[in-house]
Amino acid sequence: MQFEPLNTWLPEVASPLIIAGPCGAESFDQLMRTAKELKETNKISLFRAGVWKPRTRPNAFEGRGEEALKWLVEVKKEFGFKITVEVANAHHTELALKYGIDVLWIGARTTVNPFSVQEIADVLMGTNTPVMVKNPIHADLQLWLGAIERVYNSGITKIAAIHRGFHFYGKTKYRNKPLWQVPIELRTLFPGLPIICDPSHISGNHELISSVAQKALDLGMNGLMIESHYDPSIALSDAEQQLTPKKLDELISNLVLRKQSSDDPETTDKLLELRKIIDEIDDELMNVLKKRIQIIEEIGAYKKEHDITIFQLERWQEILRTRGQWADKMGISRQHIEKICQLLHEESIRIQNGLMNS
Ligand code: PEP
Ligand code: MN
Repeated sequence: MQFEPLNTWLPEVASPLIIAGPCGAESFDQLMRTAKELKETNKISLFRAGVWKPRTRPNAFEGRGEEALKWLVEVKKEFGFKITVEVANAHHTELALKYGIDVLWIGARTTVNPFSVQEIADVLMGTNTPVMVKNPIHADLQLWLGAIERVYNSGITKIAAIHRGFHFYGKTKYRNKPLWQVPIELRTLFPGLPIICDPSHISGNHELISSVAQKALDLGMNGLMIESHYDPSIALSDAEQQLTPKKLDELISNLVLRKQSSDDPETTDKLLELRKIIDEIDDELMNVLKKRIQIIEEIGAYKKEHDITIFQLERWQEILRTRGQWADKMGISRQHIEKICQLLHEESIRIQNGLMNS
Protein backbone atom coordinates (compact mmCIF):
# COMPACT_ATOMS: atom_id res chain seq x y z
CA MET A 1 0.00 0.00 0.00
CA GLN A 2 1.22 3.50 -0.89
CA PHE A 3 -0.18 6.31 1.24
CA GLU A 4 -0.11 10.06 0.68
CA PRO A 5 1.81 11.96 3.35
CA LEU A 6 -0.32 13.81 5.88
CA ASN A 7 0.83 17.27 4.74
CA THR A 8 -0.71 16.67 1.30
CA TRP A 9 -4.22 16.48 2.76
CA LEU A 10 -4.10 18.26 6.12
CA PRO A 11 -2.94 21.85 6.55
CA GLU A 12 0.16 21.97 8.74
CA VAL A 13 -0.91 24.88 10.89
CA ALA A 14 1.60 24.19 13.62
CA SER A 15 3.92 21.48 14.75
CA PRO A 16 2.92 18.96 15.96
CA LEU A 17 -0.15 18.55 13.82
CA ILE A 18 -3.22 18.86 16.03
CA ILE A 19 -6.78 17.69 15.45
CA ALA A 20 -9.09 19.08 18.12
CA GLY A 21 -12.72 19.69 18.91
CA PRO A 22 -15.38 18.33 21.20
CA CYS A 23 -16.15 14.67 21.72
CA GLY A 24 -19.67 15.34 20.48
CA ALA A 25 -21.40 18.13 18.57
CA GLU A 26 -23.98 19.10 21.19
CA SER A 27 -25.40 22.39 19.95
CA PHE A 28 -24.68 25.13 17.46
CA ASP A 29 -23.49 27.41 20.26
CA GLN A 30 -21.21 24.82 21.80
CA LEU A 31 -19.54 24.20 18.42
CA MET A 32 -19.16 27.87 17.55
CA ARG A 33 -17.79 28.80 20.93
CA THR A 34 -15.33 25.89 21.05
CA ALA A 35 -14.25 26.50 17.45
CA LYS A 36 -13.71 30.22 18.10
CA GLU A 37 -11.48 29.53 21.09
CA LEU A 38 -9.59 26.82 19.22
CA LYS A 39 -9.09 29.16 16.26
CA GLU A 40 -7.46 31.67 18.62
CA THR A 41 -4.78 29.15 19.55
CA ASN A 42 -3.57 29.08 15.93
CA LYS A 43 -2.53 25.49 16.37
CA ILE A 44 -5.37 23.43 14.95
CA SER A 45 -5.15 21.67 11.57
CA LEU A 46 -8.52 19.94 11.66
CA PHE A 47 -11.70 20.44 13.70
CA ARG A 48 -13.29 17.25 15.02
CA ALA A 49 -16.77 16.57 16.42
CA GLY A 50 -18.78 13.40 16.84
CA VAL A 51 -22.16 13.68 15.17
CA TRP A 52 -23.20 10.08 15.76
CA LYS A 53 -21.84 8.83 19.09
CA PRO A 54 -21.47 5.10 19.63
CA ARG A 55 -22.33 4.73 23.32
CA THR A 56 -21.76 1.69 25.46
CA ARG A 57 -25.17 1.92 27.17
CA PRO A 58 -28.45 3.14 25.68
CA ASN A 59 -30.05 6.41 26.80
CA ALA A 60 -26.71 8.23 26.81
CA PHE A 61 -26.11 11.21 24.50
CA GLU A 62 -25.96 9.70 21.02
CA GLY A 63 -25.18 12.80 18.98
CA ARG A 64 -27.36 15.20 17.01
CA GLY A 65 -26.97 13.51 13.61
CA GLU A 66 -27.62 15.37 10.37
CA GLU A 67 -28.55 18.61 12.11
CA ALA A 68 -25.04 18.78 13.55
CA LEU A 69 -23.53 18.39 10.08
CA LYS A 70 -25.27 21.67 9.17
CA TRP A 71 -23.68 23.35 12.21
CA LEU A 72 -20.28 22.04 11.17
CA VAL A 73 -20.71 23.55 7.72
CA GLU A 74 -21.17 26.89 9.55
CA VAL A 75 -18.05 26.30 11.66
CA LYS A 76 -16.11 25.70 8.46
CA LYS A 77 -17.47 28.89 6.87
CA GLU A 78 -16.89 31.04 9.94
CA PHE A 79 -13.41 29.85 10.95
CA GLY A 80 -11.98 28.22 7.84
CA PHE A 81 -11.32 24.91 9.59
CA LYS A 82 -11.28 21.63 7.73
CA ILE A 83 -13.78 19.33 9.45
CA THR A 84 -13.73 15.68 10.46
CA VAL A 85 -16.56 13.50 11.80
CA GLU A 86 -16.91 9.84 12.73
CA VAL A 87 -18.86 7.58 10.39
CA ALA A 88 -20.05 4.14 11.41
CA ASN A 89 -22.14 2.99 8.43
CA ALA A 90 -22.99 3.72 4.80
CA HIS A 91 -25.76 6.18 5.70
CA HIS A 92 -23.45 8.31 7.87
CA THR A 93 -20.88 8.28 5.09
CA GLU A 94 -23.38 9.41 2.44
CA LEU A 95 -24.51 12.27 4.66
CA ALA A 96 -20.96 13.33 5.52
CA LEU A 97 -20.12 13.47 1.80
CA LYS A 98 -23.33 15.38 1.08
CA TYR A 99 -22.34 18.09 3.58
CA GLY A 100 -18.77 18.30 2.29
CA ILE A 101 -17.04 16.99 5.40
CA ASP A 102 -13.33 17.06 4.58
CA VAL A 103 -12.02 14.04 6.47
CA LEU A 104 -13.87 11.02 7.89
CA TRP A 105 -12.83 8.82 10.75
CA ILE A 106 -13.84 5.29 11.57
CA GLY A 107 -14.25 4.73 15.31
CA ALA A 108 -12.81 1.94 17.43
CA ARG A 109 -16.18 0.20 17.71
CA THR A 110 -16.62 0.22 13.94
CA THR A 111 -13.12 -0.91 12.99
CA VAL A 112 -13.92 -4.21 14.73
CA ASN A 113 -16.71 -4.93 12.24
CA PRO A 114 -15.56 -5.76 8.69
CA PHE A 115 -19.14 -5.47 7.35
CA SER A 116 -19.47 -1.89 8.57
CA VAL A 117 -16.02 -0.93 7.35
CA GLN A 118 -16.76 -2.46 3.95
CA GLU A 119 -20.03 -0.58 3.51
CA ILE A 120 -18.28 2.69 4.39
CA ALA A 121 -15.50 1.87 1.92
CA ASP A 122 -18.08 1.06 -0.78
CA VAL A 123 -19.71 4.48 -0.42
CA LEU A 124 -16.29 6.15 -0.63
CA MET A 125 -15.25 4.27 -3.77
CA GLY A 126 -13.62 6.65 -6.24
CA THR A 127 -13.86 9.78 -4.03
CA ASN A 128 -10.37 9.74 -2.45
CA THR A 129 -11.91 11.32 0.65
CA PRO A 130 -9.31 11.21 3.46
CA VAL A 131 -10.09 8.61 6.11
CA MET A 132 -8.59 8.07 9.55
CA VAL A 133 -8.97 4.58 10.97
CA LYS A 134 -8.95 4.17 14.73
CA ASN A 135 -7.55 0.98 16.18
CA PRO A 136 -10.12 -1.65 17.14
CA ILE A 137 -10.97 -1.68 20.87
CA HIS A 138 -8.87 -4.79 21.43
CA ALA A 139 -5.25 -5.17 20.41
CA ASP A 140 -5.78 -6.96 17.10
CA LEU A 141 -3.34 -5.53 14.57
CA GLN A 142 -4.76 -7.69 11.77
CA LEU A 143 -8.22 -6.25 12.26
CA TRP A 144 -6.82 -2.71 12.24
CA LEU A 145 -4.87 -3.47 9.07
CA GLY A 146 -7.90 -5.14 7.51
CA ALA A 147 -9.97 -1.98 7.95
CA ILE A 148 -7.19 0.12 6.44
CA GLU A 149 -6.98 -2.28 3.49
CA ARG A 150 -10.74 -2.15 2.89
CA VAL A 151 -10.57 1.66 2.72
CA TYR A 152 -7.45 1.55 0.55
CA ASN A 153 -9.10 -0.90 -1.84
CA SER A 154 -11.72 1.77 -2.55
CA GLY A 155 -9.02 3.86 -4.15
CA ILE A 156 -8.32 5.97 -1.07
CA THR A 157 -4.67 6.84 -0.53
CA LYS A 158 -5.21 9.62 2.01
CA ILE A 159 -5.34 7.37 5.05
CA ALA A 160 -4.07 7.76 8.60
CA ALA A 161 -4.26 5.35 11.50
CA ILE A 162 -5.38 6.69 14.87
CA HIS A 163 -3.97 5.04 17.96
CA ARG A 164 -6.58 5.43 20.74
CA GLY A 165 -5.49 2.64 23.08
CA PHE A 166 -6.98 -0.76 23.84
CA HIS A 167 -9.60 -2.05 26.20
CA PHE A 168 -8.10 -3.76 29.21
CA TYR A 169 -10.03 -5.82 31.73
CA GLY A 170 -8.23 -5.17 34.97
CA LYS A 171 -6.60 -2.36 36.90
CA THR A 172 -4.87 0.32 34.88
CA LYS A 173 -4.46 4.06 35.22
CA TYR A 174 -5.59 4.47 31.62
CA ARG A 175 -9.09 4.35 30.22
CA ASN A 176 -7.60 2.35 27.36
CA LYS A 177 -4.12 0.90 27.66
CA PRO A 178 -1.75 2.40 25.09
CA LEU A 179 0.16 -0.87 24.31
CA TRP A 180 2.67 1.18 22.32
CA GLN A 181 4.13 -1.93 20.72
CA VAL A 182 1.01 -2.27 18.54
CA PRO A 183 1.33 1.09 16.71
CA ILE A 184 5.10 0.50 16.56
CA GLU A 185 4.45 -2.80 14.79
CA LEU A 186 2.07 -1.01 12.41
CA ARG A 187 4.77 1.58 11.68
CA THR A 188 7.29 -1.18 11.04
CA LEU A 189 4.95 -2.89 8.56
CA PHE A 190 3.86 0.31 6.77
CA PRO A 191 6.43 3.07 7.32
CA GLY A 192 4.52 5.38 4.95
CA LEU A 193 1.23 5.23 6.87
CA PRO A 194 0.74 8.33 9.05
CA ILE A 195 -0.17 7.52 12.66
CA ILE A 196 -2.02 9.99 14.85
CA CYS A 197 -2.30 9.46 18.57
CA ASP A 198 -5.54 10.15 20.46
CA PRO A 199 -4.31 10.70 24.02
CA SER A 200 -7.80 11.71 25.16
CA HIS A 201 -9.33 8.24 24.77
CA ILE A 202 -6.17 6.54 26.03
CA SER A 203 -6.16 8.70 29.18
CA GLY A 204 -9.83 9.07 30.00
CA ASN A 205 -8.96 12.00 32.26
CA HIS A 206 -7.29 15.32 31.61
CA GLU A 207 -4.28 14.72 33.89
CA LEU A 208 -2.67 11.97 31.82
CA ILE A 209 -3.07 13.58 28.40
CA SER A 210 0.17 15.53 28.24
CA SER A 211 2.43 12.60 29.19
CA VAL A 212 0.70 10.31 26.68
CA ALA A 213 0.94 13.00 23.98
CA GLN A 214 4.62 13.53 24.70
CA LYS A 215 5.35 9.83 24.50
CA ALA A 216 3.47 9.57 21.19
CA LEU A 217 5.66 12.30 19.72
CA ASP A 218 8.79 10.69 21.12
CA LEU A 219 7.80 7.48 19.34
CA GLY A 220 7.55 9.36 16.04
CA MET A 221 3.79 9.63 15.69
CA ASN A 222 2.68 12.24 13.15
CA GLY A 223 0.02 14.13 15.03
CA LEU A 224 -2.41 14.25 17.93
CA MET A 225 -6.18 14.18 18.16
CA ILE A 226 -7.30 15.79 21.41
CA GLU A 227 -10.84 16.43 22.62
CA SER A 228 -11.63 20.01 23.56
CA HIS A 229 -14.82 21.67 24.81
CA TYR A 230 -15.22 25.30 25.83
CA ASP A 231 -16.53 24.03 29.18
CA PRO A 232 -15.74 20.32 29.75
CA SER A 233 -17.75 20.28 32.99
CA ILE A 234 -21.01 20.48 31.02
CA ALA A 235 -19.99 18.16 28.17
CA LEU A 236 -22.60 15.51 27.32
CA SER A 237 -19.95 12.85 26.70
CA ASP A 238 -16.35 12.26 27.82
CA ALA A 239 -16.45 15.25 30.19
CA GLU A 240 -13.50 14.03 32.32
CA GLN A 241 -11.06 13.90 29.43
CA GLN A 242 -11.89 17.07 27.52
CA LEU A 243 -9.68 20.14 27.78
CA THR A 244 -10.64 23.76 27.40
CA PRO A 245 -9.05 25.31 24.30
CA LYS A 246 -6.83 27.35 26.64
CA LYS A 247 -5.59 24.23 28.47
CA LEU A 248 -5.05 22.52 25.14
CA ASP A 249 -3.01 25.48 23.95
CA GLU A 250 -0.80 25.29 27.06
CA LEU A 251 -0.40 21.56 26.72
CA ILE A 252 0.75 21.86 23.10
CA SER A 253 3.14 24.68 23.96
CA ASN A 254 4.72 22.53 26.66
CA LEU A 255 5.35 19.53 24.40
CA VAL A 256 9.00 18.95 23.62
CA LEU A 257 9.62 18.44 19.92
CA ARG A 258 12.52 16.08 19.39
CA LYS A 259 14.14 15.31 16.06
CA GLN A 260 14.39 11.88 14.46
CA SER A 261 18.16 12.26 14.28
CA SER A 262 20.83 14.88 14.82
CA ASP A 263 22.98 16.72 12.22
CA ASP A 264 25.62 17.45 14.83
CA PRO A 265 28.54 15.01 14.25
CA GLU A 266 29.48 14.99 17.93
CA THR A 267 26.00 13.86 18.98
CA THR A 268 25.92 11.24 16.23
CA ASP A 269 29.35 9.89 17.26
CA LYS A 270 28.35 9.63 20.90
CA LEU A 271 25.18 7.74 19.97
CA LEU A 272 27.13 5.40 17.71
CA GLU A 273 29.55 4.70 20.53
CA LEU A 274 26.75 3.87 22.98
CA ARG A 275 25.01 1.71 20.39
CA LYS A 276 28.19 -0.29 19.89
CA ILE A 277 28.17 -1.08 23.58
CA ILE A 278 24.54 -2.18 23.28
CA ASP A 279 25.55 -4.45 20.39
CA GLU A 280 28.21 -6.04 22.58
CA ILE A 281 25.80 -6.51 25.48
CA ASP A 282 23.22 -8.10 23.16
CA ASP A 283 25.92 -10.45 21.92
CA GLU A 284 26.66 -11.43 25.53
CA LEU A 285 22.95 -11.92 26.15
CA MET A 286 22.72 -14.26 23.15
CA ASN A 287 25.55 -16.35 24.53
CA VAL A 288 23.89 -16.56 27.93
CA LEU A 289 20.57 -17.49 26.30
CA LYS A 290 22.27 -20.20 24.26
CA LYS A 291 23.76 -21.66 27.46
CA ARG A 292 20.33 -21.56 29.11
CA ILE A 293 18.77 -23.38 26.14
CA GLN A 294 21.43 -26.12 26.34
CA ILE A 295 20.59 -26.72 30.01
CA ILE A 296 16.86 -26.76 29.19
CA GLU A 297 17.55 -29.45 26.60
CA GLU A 298 19.40 -31.48 29.22
CA ILE A 299 16.52 -31.07 31.65
CA GLY A 300 14.04 -32.09 28.93
CA ALA A 301 16.02 -35.24 28.15
CA TYR A 302 16.27 -36.07 31.86
CA LYS A 303 12.54 -35.57 32.44
CA LYS A 304 11.75 -37.76 29.45
CA GLU A 305 14.00 -40.53 30.76
CA HIS A 306 12.35 -40.38 34.18
CA ASP A 307 8.77 -39.72 33.02
CA ILE A 308 8.48 -36.37 34.75
CA THR A 309 6.00 -33.72 33.51
CA ILE A 310 7.30 -30.61 31.78
CA PHE A 311 5.44 -28.04 33.87
CA GLN A 312 6.28 -27.87 37.55
CA LEU A 313 4.11 -25.29 39.31
CA GLU A 314 6.31 -24.90 42.41
CA ARG A 315 9.44 -24.35 40.32
CA TRP A 316 7.68 -21.77 38.15
CA GLN A 317 6.35 -19.93 41.22
CA GLU A 318 9.83 -19.97 42.73
CA ILE A 319 11.35 -18.51 39.54
CA LEU A 320 8.82 -15.69 39.44
CA ARG A 321 9.27 -14.91 43.13
CA THR A 322 13.08 -14.99 43.26
CA ARG A 323 13.62 -13.17 39.96
CA GLY A 324 11.19 -10.50 41.13
CA GLN A 325 13.21 -10.08 44.33
CA TRP A 326 16.48 -9.95 42.36
CA ALA A 327 14.99 -7.31 40.10
CA ASP A 328 13.97 -5.18 43.11
CA LYS A 329 17.44 -5.53 44.60
CA MET A 330 19.11 -4.49 41.36
CA GLY A 331 16.77 -1.59 40.68
CA ILE A 332 15.34 -3.17 37.52
CA SER A 333 11.60 -2.99 36.85
CA ARG A 334 9.96 -6.10 38.33
CA GLN A 335 7.33 -6.04 35.58
CA HIS A 336 10.01 -6.06 32.92
CA ILE A 337 11.74 -9.06 34.50
CA GLU A 338 8.44 -10.91 34.92
CA LYS A 339 7.70 -10.42 31.22
CA ILE A 340 11.13 -11.78 30.31
CA CYS A 341 10.62 -14.76 32.64
CA GLN A 342 7.27 -15.49 30.95
CA LEU A 343 8.97 -15.51 27.54
CA LEU A 344 11.84 -17.70 28.75
CA HIS A 345 9.42 -20.11 30.36
CA GLU A 346 7.25 -20.31 27.23
CA GLU A 347 10.31 -21.12 25.13
CA SER A 348 11.53 -23.64 27.69
CA ILE A 349 8.18 -25.47 27.54
CA ARG A 350 8.23 -25.40 23.75
CA ILE A 351 11.74 -26.91 23.65
CA GLN A 352 10.97 -29.59 26.26
CA ASN A 353 7.70 -30.48 24.55
CA GLY A 354 9.53 -30.92 21.25
CA LEU A 355 12.12 -33.13 22.92
CA MET A 356 9.72 -35.28 24.90
CA ASN A 357 7.01 -35.77 22.31
CA SER A 358 9.01 -36.06 19.12
C1 PEP B 1 -14.38 9.63 19.79
O1 PEP B 1 -13.38 9.96 19.16
O2 PEP B 1 -15.10 10.44 20.40
C2 PEP B 1 -14.70 8.20 19.90
C3 PEP B 1 -15.93 7.74 20.02
O3 PEP B 1 -13.60 7.47 19.94
P1 PEP B 1 -13.31 5.89 19.92
O4 PEP B 1 -13.89 5.37 18.65
O5 PEP B 1 -11.83 5.89 19.94
O6 PEP B 1 -13.91 5.32 21.16
MN1 MN C 1 -14.97 10.92 22.97
